[in-house]
Amino acid sequence: MSSVVANLATVRANIDGATRRVGRDPADVRLVLVTKTVAAERVQEAVEAGQSDLGENKVQEGRGKAQALAGLPIRWSMIGHLQSNKVKDVLRFADEVQSLDRLSLATALDKRLQHLGRGLDVLVQVNTSDEASKYGLHPDEVQAFLRELPAFASLRPLGFMTLARFTPDVAEVRRCFRLLKGVRHRALQDAPQGDQLRHLSMGMSGDYEIAIEEGATIVRVGQAVFGPRPLPDSYYWPDAGAVA
Ligand SMILES: *Cc1c(COP(=O)(O)O)cnc(C)c1O
Repeated sequence: MSSVVANLATVRANIDGATRRVGRDPADVRLVLVTKTVAAERVQEAVEAGQSDLGENKVQEGRGKAQALAGLPIRWSMIGHLQSNKVKDVLRFADEVQSLDRLSLATALDKRLQHLGRGLDVLVQVNTSDEASKYGLHPDEVQAFLRELPAFASLRPLGFMTLARFTPDVAEVRRCFRLLKGVRHRALQDAPQGDQLRHLSMGMSGDYEIAIEEGATIVRVGQAVFGPRPLPDSYYWPDAGAVA
């Protein structure tokens, strides 16, 4: 068995273990395998082992990989910061955008989607770690944002996404995840979308089991399956690791 396939099996087993520890159903948690910096051939091994849910952080890389793997049963999620001028390109490959963080992006996505005659699953990204390097709405801004979203008829908001602070301090990581859960709790009560907003996308290679214990329904895992990335976290999140 290749290391990719073996690691994937380990991650899936860990997901099952974490859900059972807290009395949840393993089928409640979706694994998005994050493929950034990973060559298409290695990604293909995971797809052939049954992993169809993939995520990319950057539009150009996602598009290229989607083209290289065209024909395979893959559902792509865009999980990284999205510039409005990349909307056309992201919609060429992505079935979901997890990084919706401003009305101007909702406007740009909706306009293009109306033109294409299709809809899009979206998650609202929330900055729970209060770090300038992390994108997302401040938790206090989410309610007002959700009230504006029904104007964008092609967007299907399904919940929320966050990155916890990158820290070995587990209590701080849990605090971030609980904050997102609190955002969802408020939204389920007040937001026009009501109980459609049930998803919590939280947890990466270092913290996905904690995230599941705190209620994650989607985890986004890359390095635990593919090994360490050549590019440092600061390439994706400038100043990551710096004390905020
Ligand atoms: C890269 C990335 C992940 C996965 O990180 P790993 O450390 O590879 O598990 C999760 N979410 C986002 C937004 C990412 O860019």
